[in-house]
Amino acid sequence: MSGTMLQPFPRYAEVALPLPLPQTFSYGVPERLLRAEPGFRARVRFGPRSLIGCVTEIRDEAPRLPDGATLHPLGSLLDGEPVLTPSQVRLARWIADYYIAAPGLVCRAMMPPETPREDRIIYRRTQGAGTPSKLGLRLLEALDRPMTAKALARAMGRKSVSGALATLQRMGYVVGHRDIHGHVGATRQIAQITEAGRAALAEEKLHPATARVLTLLSVANEAVPVAAIRYEAGIKSGGPFGRLARKGLIELTREPMRQSPWERLRMARSEDSRAVELTPYQTEAIAAIVAAARLGRFSPMVLRGVTGSGKTEVYLRAAEEVVRAGRAVLLLVPEISLTPRLAALLHGRFGERVAILHSALGSAERRDEWWRIRNGQAGIVVGARSAVLAPVENLGLVVVDEEHESSYKQEEAPRYNARDVAIVRANEDGAVVVLGSATPSLESYTHAVEGRYRLVVLPERIGNRSLASVELVDMKEVVREQGPETIISRPLETAIEARLAEREQAMVLLNRRGYAGQLLCRQCGLALTCNECSLAMTLHRRATLAVCHLCGLGRALPERCEMCRGEYLRHVGYGTERVEELMKERFPDSRVARMDRDTMRRKGSHEALLTRFAAKEIDILVGTQMLAKGHDFPAVTLVGVLAADNALGAPDFRAAERTFQLLTQVAGRAGRGDRPGKVLIQTFTPDHYSLEFARSQDFEGFYESERKFRSALLYPPVVRLLNLVFEGSTMAEATREARRAATFLKTQELESLRVLGPAFAVRSKIRNRYRCQLLLKLTRSSHGRVRALVRTLLNDESIARSMTVDVDPLTLA
Ligand code: ADP
Ligand code: ZN
Repeated sequence: MSGTMLQPFPRYAEVALPLPLPQTFSYGVPERLLRAEPGFRARVRFGPRSLIGCVTEIRDEAPRLPDGATLHPLGSLLDGEPVLTPSQVRLARWIADYYIAAPGLVCRAMMPPETPREDRIIYRRTQGAGTPSKLGLRLLEALDRPMTAKALARAMGRKSVSGALATLQRMGYVVGHRDIHGHVGATRQIAQITEAGRAALAEEKLHPATARVLTLLSVANEAVPVAAIRYEAGIKSGGPFGRLARKGLIELTREPMRQSPWERLRMARSEDSRAVELTPYQTEAIAAIVAAARLGRFSPMVLRGVTGSGKTEVYLRAAEEVVRAGRAVLLLVPEISLTPRLAALLHGRFGERVAILHSALGSAERRDEWWRIRNGQAGIVVGARSAVLAPVENLGLVVVDEEHESSYKQEEAPRYNARDVAIVRANEDGAVVVLGSATPSLESYTHAVEGRYRLVVLPERIGNRSLASVELVDMKEVVREQGPETIISRPLETAIEARLAEREQAMVLLNRRGYAGQLLCRQCGLALTCNECSLAMTLHRRATLAVCHLCGLGRALPERCEMCRGEYLRHVGYGTERVEELMKERFPDSRVARMDRDTMRRKGSHEALLTRFAAKEIDILVGTQMLAKGHDFPAVTLVGVLAADNALGAPDFRAAERTFQLLTQVAGRAGRGDRPGKVLIQTFTPDHYSLEFARSQDFEGFYESERKFRSALLYPPVVRLLNLVFEGSTMAEATREARRAATFLKTQELESLRVLGPAFAVRSKIRNRYRCQLLLKLTRSSHGRVRALVRTLLNDESIARSMTVDVDPLTLA
């Protein structure tokens, strides 16, 4: 058959392939596969390869192909019915279009999670829908008690039953759980660094991957699951671990799997809050949500409720009403592992109708939850960012809790902001979307102020409790009185002492992990910098190990400056590790613990620590912004914040907003019980407006000031941003592509588009790749046209190779 002849297919399919390419690909639908619809998985030929993609569109007309291209047929379909729902397919297309993301990567992120090794899963029968096949019925009969697929096959006298099992699972008749109590495969591999390993880190000539593994283990200072290290160090194969163990640099052992959050949810003594009497403000907020949900029209809402105003109860009651009316609920939270109590509350109210989706689940659990949602068995879906892609249909209510949180933004492909996608989903299903926060983002609040979103306010704490009183401690004065090296001011020290005497608890927040900020040469002023990145290294482990926070590379400290050979090197700045040490020295009789990324590498360690803190087994909890996240500990009456102005110097127009949010949120942790709370904020810039408004906990005031600043300098929400990052093996190479792109964009003479740059990216080198950026400022009305221009740029091969597109960026690279 000639390639140029129009091929006689009855229909044509667009298929999204799991490749980082901005387009879908056309295939013919042969007669035997006419059941193909959007949402089906299909095997297709792509060049010499065979790939599994997702059908996104079916058409009657033949596509126009480039000259000489051949139209291939779909090879086969993997499923009997579409895996993705129609609304998921529409959502995937919207995300791919708006975020200029690869449609195949978006579809892949929506697909059911893959099956883990079969022998680890125990299957049991449940309630399903539809008529199983004959084989299916026999299988269900044989499955008279929970068993593995292997045992089941043996019982039925067959070699394998995996096909029939998968079908029954999809129909809801069978669920599989990872066996965590039994003996089959219920362990995981963990690694710990040895003395020899620490010594090896001091040598210069380690392979970077090896150095990253050893650094991570050295900083964690405890056994860490190998899976977690591989994830964080970006190592694909398991090879290096065996090699390191044979060399005696690490020790590999196995430990029993811990209970997953899912398992706990099902076993937890669930908490029931149905008896609490609502406050008038809560009643009003719930009524507003429920009334809007009844209309069945898209209604976006901002719920601004001060910390401790009972927002969670509002979500739960509104969800209950919506579920009663037969519609589904999607509840997004920044990080479930930080809010285990939410799971207990949901379970208490909705039991098995809740599905939880998040990264801490084992793959079998995640797949089960996915199919329970897809089958309509779970009408309430709770999860972090990626849950916004879940196959839930007929949404009546979408809640985005702590909507200002930057963790809703996915910073790798496909890049999207789950908060904004949530709004699109609600719009699609005619649902209410509630954006809840004590400190809404400038973007969302502007929509409310300008009347596009409804504003509902919970102005008071529950039980007439007052907000914590906040004082700023001027560190300029402290330094004058206590000396330049002072980390903990006397007022803070005295306050902690007083709380300990009363057997109350304190939190100390510092938004920098590690021991010291960096290592500086007194002679030439040079800071010790990562070999592969453009960042000064942070000192960890009592300043014996320098670690790059961009790439994870670590090394022993040099004895002399690497530039001028000077011998006087000094630490500047301090991190949480140092503060923990100081607290232990200063308050030797109290129990001090630390919560930051370094101490929380194990899954479940958050919960273990928070449980101990709740049980008052810890007096002082030191940590990074993890401390600020929605916790409800009634015995915390004091919060200390160190170096509050740390982030203000960051080259980011959101620095003031982030600082205000962090300070207000952490202040919200104090005084949630019967005793009033107090917050002491140490700062060198007490006059800065974000600190001043954080002190008075005046969101409106902050909003007004910040809004003016954004208008004056043309930043969101006044304009939209689109960031183009260019990478190359030299800066010249990166800049060359950026210049070509800039020239193209500037010659379009689009009046509503400003092109800033090329400029060095803030992180101008990561892992030996040099980076520069073009920042585009545009208006809402020109968004579509600018996206089309950026797509045109992607047609240029050498630009496409080096360019990453970030629509509505939250950080400027
Ligand atoms: P927010 O998320 O607004 O900071 P929470 O939802 O955590 O606040 O609520 C703060 C505390 O008040 C929680 O312990 C919650 O159980 C409790 N609470 C909420 N509503 C009520 C109510 N109407 N009566 C008594 N306690 C309540
Ligand atoms: Zn680095």
